[in-house]
Order: sequence, then C-alpha cells, then structure tokens
Amino acid sequence: HVVTRFAPSPTGFLHIGGARTALFNWLFARHHGGKFLLRIEDTDRVRSTQPAIEAILDGMRWLGLDWDGEAVYQFARAARHAEVAQELLANGHAYRCYATAEELEAMRAEQRANKQPLRYDGRWRDRDPSEAPEGAPYVIRLKAPREGETTIEDRVQGKVTVKNAELDDMVLLRSDGTPTYMLAVVVDDHDMGVTHVIRGDDHLNNAFRQLAIIRAMGWPEPIYAHVPLIHGSDGAKLSKRHGALGVEAYRDELGILPEALSNYLLRLGWGHGDAEIISRDQAIEWFDLAGVGRSPSRFDTKKLENLNGHYIREADDARLAELIAPVVAAIAGRDLGDEGVALLQRAMPLLKVRAKDLHDLAEGASFLFRTRPLDMDERARTLLDGPAIALLDQARRAISTVEDWSAPALEAAVRPVAEAAGIGLGKVAQPLRAALTGRTTSPGIFDVLALLGKEESLARLDDRIG
Ligand code: GLU
Repeated sequence: HVVTRFAPSPTGFLHIGGARTALFNWLFARHHGGKFLLRIEDTDRVRSTQPAIEAILDGMRWLGLDWDGEAVYQFARAARHAEVAQELLANGHAYRCYATAEELEAMRAEQRANKQPLRYDGRWRDRDPSEAPEGAPYVIRLKAPREGETTIEDRVQGKVTVKNAELDDMVLLRSDGTPTYMLAVVVDDHDMGVTHVIRGDDHLNNAFRQLAIIRAMGWPEPIYAHVPLIHGSDGAKLSKRHGALGVEAYRDELGILPEALSNYLLRLGWGHGDAEIISRDQAIEWFDLAGVGRSPSRFDTKKLENLNGHYIREADDARLAELIAPVVAAIAGRDLGDEGVALLQRAMPLLKVRAKDLHDLAEGASFLFRTRPLDMDERARTLLDGPAIALLDQARRAISTVEDWSAPALEAAVRPVAEAAGIGLGKVAQPLRAALTGRTTSPGIFDVLALLGKEESLARLDDRIG
C-alpha cells in the first residue's frame, strides 16, 4: 500500500513548485490506489499565517488535489515529537548537550579559522550529565553514527551517499522543550504511515539526517523521491521574475484553467513519451517516479498559454460562461443576469476558438453586453471614417427586412450589397464589425448579428449612421 503526503510550510501562498509537488504526490497515490495526506508544517509560529493556510487549501481544491482524511497540523503535535526525543534519550540514541550558545560560537569560530566545516563536535556525546552545572539548560541531540556512510536509493536522484562523519549530532529538542523541524517531519511521517516521500530536491540533504532518526527509532524507512526544482526560462532558479506566482494568481490574474495548470505542472519535470496533452485520468494511469527527470525543468509561459487555450476550447460552454460572467459584467459595467449568462453560453463556441486565457475570452465576449452608444477603439473608429458609413447604411437597409434573423439569412442579405459596390464581402464586414462591436476583431460578423438580435443590431448601426 502507498501513502504519500504534501507537507507545505504555510509561510506564503501555494507557489507553483509546491503545487507540482502536491500534484506528483497526489498522482502517485491515486495511481497506486493509496492515500494522499496533507500536513501543514506550521511550526514556524512567526512566519506561518492563517491566510497562507487558506490559500494553500484553496489552491489545492482548485487544482482538484483532494487529500484523504483531515489535514494534520504539525505544531499541534509538539508533545508527541518531544515524547520521541525522550524515547531516543532513554534508549541511548540521543543525549543531553549542555553547551552554551557562547561556547558553540567559539567552537564555530575556531572551525572557521581552521577552514573546517562548521559542525557540532560532539562534546557532550560521551559526557555524563552530572558534569553539567545544577539546573543548566540543555538540548537533546541525536547520537548519530560517526563511522561508515549512509546511502539513499532515491527514486529520482539514484544512489546518493554521504559519509556519516559529515553529519553532526543534530538537535532534536531545543532547550525550551520544542522539537526541531527535522524531528517533527520524521515523527509525523512515521505516525501518518507515509511510505513515499516525494518532494523538492532542496530537501535531499535533510533526508540523510531524517534517516538517522528513523534508524535510531528502528522505524520503517520511506522511499524517497527528490524532484529537481523548477527553473526560469533563463536557467536560473525560479523567482517572481520568472512567473513564480501563487497558484491563485494563475487563476485570478492570468485567467488560467485548473486543468491547464495541472497538465502544465505535470509535464514540468515528468514525461510519458512525447505526450503533451494529458487528461487527469490518463495522468493517474501513467504517473510513475521513473518518468521524473533528473535535471531542473524550465518554466515556459508560452507553453502554459497554449495548454490553456487548448483546455478553454475543450471546456464546457456553460462552465466557461459562469467563469467569465463576472469579468464580462465588470467590463460592460452592468450585471448580465441569467439571460446574459445564457447568451454568453450560446456565444461560447464562437468566442472560445481564439482565447488563450479567460480574460481574453471575457474581453472578446464583452461586445455582447456593452451599452450603447458603444465606445470604439482607435482602429474601429478609423474604419468608420468617410465612405464606410454609406456602406454601413446600405447593409443596414438590406438586413432590416430580414425576418429569419440567422447568420445564413443575414449573409444572403448582405452579399448583394458587396456585389453592387463591386467589393468583397469582407470590405462590408469590416465597418459592420466596427459598428457592432467597437472592435476590429470578433467572431464572424453574421454570427455577431445573430447573437445581438435584430433590435440591438439595428440600433448599434443607427448610432453610427446617424
Ligand atoms: N515543509 C517543507 C517545505 O515546505 C516540506 C517538508 C517535506 O516535504 O519533508 O518545503
């Protein structure tokens, strides 16, 4: 059986690196019919915030990454972590260290002067606590192995080995009785029954220390998979400048659909042949750790846009209409009402063919709801200068008698106008588009007329003809 977990620190929003880690863990669990757990690592009491927790949960729900059972809050388990430190102390795998902060600073200064690596030298490892002053504060340190080496068979990184001499006796419990992060992670993973630890490779070094605690407790060792971090398109570590935004920014500011972001994140570091568009079900079927690449993947905004465009075209029209209705209403400056949303939905097959994000889609749909007289953009205004108005007038007359207000019937009515003027149909369509939408791009002009209806169409034309 498989149990994975996502263990974010709620010190900021759910950024895309975290979202990808969550996705990989979720997919791995679902692929194996196992469990995917969520643990909020809120032990940093200063930097952890409730809004960050909400943003993480919200982002996961939006991406459809449902977790099994209740989320575990790490800080609430501090007593349990301390209990394990005491257990290690009792069985001789940990010891009390009474070294003072000044003493440790002096030790490090000396190491620095001798160009030695800075690490605790184990000065209390073999001393008896009775040698410490009465009531002196102490930390509990792990009695880590000093000889030999530790090897991790990482499912992504391969075999990784460190000399045990390089790992010092880390603190498990601070002098105020609070557990360290390293101890908390190990105890929580164990108690939650985590079998696979899939996370960013910035945690690979921690894995060796965590393994030392696990072994000291005689607990089963999880399988590790440390995934390379995401880099920007220039190869440097991902930062805000590269689009390392919170997941909610992709939703709210960039108008990305969750399935598009999810597909994009999946392909960012994992592959299955040359498949690019991968549905959720397909991803569950295919996902494996062998497909995770060893080198950092590069963030590519263009690719995300393309996927988003694809998923917008695939998306259900009613859903898209609901999603963009508030944005369209804001652009048009009025409430759409149920009727408006229904109109949006009817227009959606025509609107969505070009859109690369939801804002784009909303902007393209807004002509349906703008109030008269329409504001014209610069290019539309230019199109309506001079002789175009006469053409507009002729087209208006031609369509005013159309009874069956459908795109084919309207086209049949306008075509003779173009022919009589000895110009192509497109030349008539241009001023019509400008007058009816205030823009120079829109769905096909006869579809636009059909969607607007006879009364509104004629009124918009009259606004221009005067
Ligand atoms: N809380 C850690 C982080 O946000 C993850 C710890 C882990 O996955 O073991 O980076």
